[in-house]
Amino acid sequence: MSQLHTQTSNLQVPVSRPSAHNVVYLDHNATTPLDPRVREAMLPWLGEYFGNPSSIHALGRRARAALDDARERLAKLLGARANEVIFTSGGTEADNLALLGVARANRHRGRHILTTCIEHHAVLHAAEHLQKREGFDVTFLPVNRNCLLEPDDVRRAIRDDTILVSVMTANNETGTIQPVTEIAEHCRERGVYFHTDAVQALGKIPVNMRELSADLLSISAHKFYGPKGVGALMVESGVRLEPLSLGGAQEMEKRAGTENVAGILGMVAAAELAVAGIAAEGPRQRELTEKLWSGLAARVTGAHRNGHPEWRVPNTLNVSFSGGIDGEALLISLDLAGIAVSSGSACIVGTMQPSHVLRAMGLSEELARASVRFSSGKDTTEEDVAYVLEALPPIVARLRR
Ligand code: PLP
Repeated sequence: MSQLHTQTSNLQVPVSRPSAHNVVYLDHNATTPLDPRVREAMLPWLGEYFGNPSSIHALGRRARAALDDARERLAKLLGARANEVIFTSGGTEADNLALLGVARANRHRGRHILTTCIEHHAVLHAAEHLQKREGFDVTFLPVNRNCLLEPDDVRRAIRDDTILVSVMTANNETGTIQPVTEIAEHCRERGVYFHTDAVQALGKIPVNMRELSADLLSISAHKFYGPKGVGALMVESGVRLEPLSLGGAQEMEKRAGTENVAGILGMVAAAELAVAGIAAEGPRQRELTEKLWSGLAARVTGAHRNGHPEWRVPNTLNVSFSGGIDGEALLISLDLAGIAVSSGSACIVGTMQPSHVLRAMGLSEELARASVRFSSGKDTTEEDVAYVLEALPPIVARLRR
């Protein structure tokens, strides 16, 4: 245990800071550390087995066999078939491919797309692009105060020319889980493709493409202790999709380019470990999140919890502090105290903008700016939570002054 003289209170008392990395890392929704077992699984493919899976010699065939095996395993884990897995460079590319790929390949059927105001920018900006540049009409559905989309709103908004509905499984900022199965089933009845961004769901809650009735589903390895820069889009066979990248015939001609063999094998190993860990980690992290919230609520007046109190992934807690606090200043003070979190603002073209998700939920600009997201992970301990509960209240008090 290390000690720091916290600048966060007038008294400058030493506060013990737990954690192996000398940082209390509560930003797992931004990214997670690579699991050492995943690194081990990747190493041979960064070393001696460097072959290109498209080469026909022995080294190439070895890489191809490993890739085929990884595809089978990922498909099995997510309730899909191997030929329904398209490996990508991450969640952003998977989301882009889902929206742009489906829209462009199905424009003859209709030009209307439905999504929500709280999607990740990888979906929102792709949808906006289709609207502004490619003649599509996009409806951005609102959510309620709890960050929840009403399935009835989707039902009402689907039109005869709707070709695609995209609703995230779990929101990255509040952790709120959307009623995706109900929405997906309705889309299926209406003959409309349904895509879900499950980037923040995999490894936190069960994710199964068939059970969900989704036609397309995005994942990203670095959110579940896998490497950065690798992900996948699951696409049900029969869904018409135009590729974004042109070149070789990789990924069933849906995504040209030599595959990131080590990254893909790392991602699949990480996904298996993460899914196997849900039963134990889910309840443990839910308990830690509840402790953090009840501790904050008891110690800091004017703390508001954002997101649905029950329908949420276990690791995420989003809190706003009243009293005109600047979330960025709070984030920096917490950083100085050795606590890594995210704030409810994002840097957009050089200025800090309040979170589009919190604003869509009806929070005032002031409260949205004064919000912090805590997202725990498998290394988070009771001591980490205790440390935050000790360090945060005096920081909030100082910033309020
Ligand atoms: N979708 C969601 C919900 C996310 O949280 C993120 C990353 O924060 C992404 C997509 C983008 O994933 P990637 O960082 O792999 O591009």
